[in-house]
Amino acid sequence: MSNPDVMDKLVSLCKRRGFIFQSSEIYGGTGSVWDYGPLGVELKKNIKDRWWHAMVRSRDDIEGLDAAILMHPRTWEASGHVAGFVDPLVDCKVCKGRFRADKLEDAKCPQKPSKQPGQHDACALTEARQFNLMFKTHMGALEESASIVYLRPETAQGIFVNFLNVQQSMRQKVPFGIAQIGKAFRNEITPGNFIFRTREFEQMEMQFFVEPGTDMEWFEQWKAMRMQWHLDLGLSKDRLQFHQHSAGELAHYARAAFDVTFDFGGTLGFQEIEGVHNRGDFDLTQHQQYSSKKLEYFDQVNNKRYVPYVIETSVGADRVTLAALVNAYREEAVEGEAEGRVVLGLHHAIAPIKAAIFPLTKKDGQPEMAHAILNDLRNSFTVDYDETGSIGKRYRRQDEVGTPFCITVDPQSTGDQTVTVRDRDTLAQERVAVGSLKAYLAAKLV
Ligand code: ATP
Repeated sequence: MSNPDVMDKLVSLCKRRGFIFQSSEIYGGTGSVWDYGPLGVELKKNIKDRWWHAMVRSRDDIEGLDAAILMHPRTWEASGHVAGFVDPLVDCKVCKGRFRADKLEDAKCPQKPSKQPGQHDACALTEARQFNLMFKTHMGALEESASIVYLRPETAQGIFVNFLNVQQSMRQKVPFGIAQIGKAFRNEITPGNFIFRTREFEQMEMQFFVEPGTDMEWFEQWKAMRMQWHLDLGLSKDRLQFHQHSAGELAHYARAAFDVTFDFGGTLGFQEIEGVHNRGDFDLTQHQQYSSKKLEYFDQVNNKRYVPYVIETSVGADRVTLAALVNAYREEAVEGEAEGRVVLGLHHAIAPIKAAIFPLTKKDGQPEMAHAILNDLRNSFTVDYDETGSIGKRYRRQDEVGTPFCITVDPQSTGDQTVTVRDRDTLAQERVAVGSLKAYLAAKLV
């Protein structure tokens, strides 16, 4: 049985609870661009931090980088994006809709949404033409062709052009990698499915430079390590799959490619969230040729020079955020209550708020005690304070945004300096001494 479609419910929850808003909403919104609100920015940051830790901080053989979005325009000629980063596009002369010619089956006819474009009697589709997905802008005061620059459609090229800078400045030896997180822009023809396909998004990419001949061994290792990362993020095993690129799907220079796909449920189903690619020496060789600068590695031990091969892991921060939200969303009945609860069962490490503190009533010193606990915990965890509405309502509010623990100060607390801690998933409540709260939470929040 396929997983249910929770997208509409999530879009509404994300807006209502401050995760994700339509960009420039008061002006009617910008097409397929989204803003992360207070809880969304924490969630996405936690995901990026986990990636950065796994890829950079916890390893000696990968260095971090933050390259500029605007690059020399020759970069995109060398990378093949000026000539080849195109999708076939068709227009409907009647409804003025634009569609990807190769993805018509995924699109809905604006005049008759139950059909795909071209299937309705009134459709008049044009011949397909090639459309470059890169956003163009101008650098400097003159808007002339010589000043054209592009908003990068991927972060990878910033890594390739800095290959020797990083290797030499950090005295790295092949095999080693360079990783970065940053914005990328694609003028997608058919964006949609919330933050799944947007025109401005964030990528987390790592290029691992290896000696030719050792590439397939590294490719297999990275494939396994990247799948494990998604599992460690809490994505369900049965919602994750590899998709191997067939000979027809492979880029002409690619030696092997697998996508990590996640089951988003409903009609969207399994879709790519990450690509793991063996790119051979294509990128460095191209940049060598276009820049006329050598991008070779000198192996001092064996006294030989070569252009390394590259194993790339490329994952979208927004797509993983969406996968984490879809994976976490659940509706549950609650014993003894007419209304059920909505829970975001997010992995503790990525939950935007780790603990919420409530005084049971607004008197008898309870708010003061709750505030003191809040201020003490604040240095270690993201915390929230709530004193409005019944305790049941306050629990529901936190469940809905994925807060793993709710701490309640009650009449007993002011006397014996203990509080109750309620677990989001098991609903179990424990009495914990205020003095041990930090250690209690730290042990649980792993
Ligand atoms: P797709 O086939 O879905 O267009 P792609 O194969 O073009 O993706 P890559 O170029 O390999 O994607 O980019 C690596 C990752 O960047 C993807 O796995 C995805 O997570 C993310 N990504 C790519 N395009 C978008 C987009 N328009 N919006 C959000 N994330 C994206």
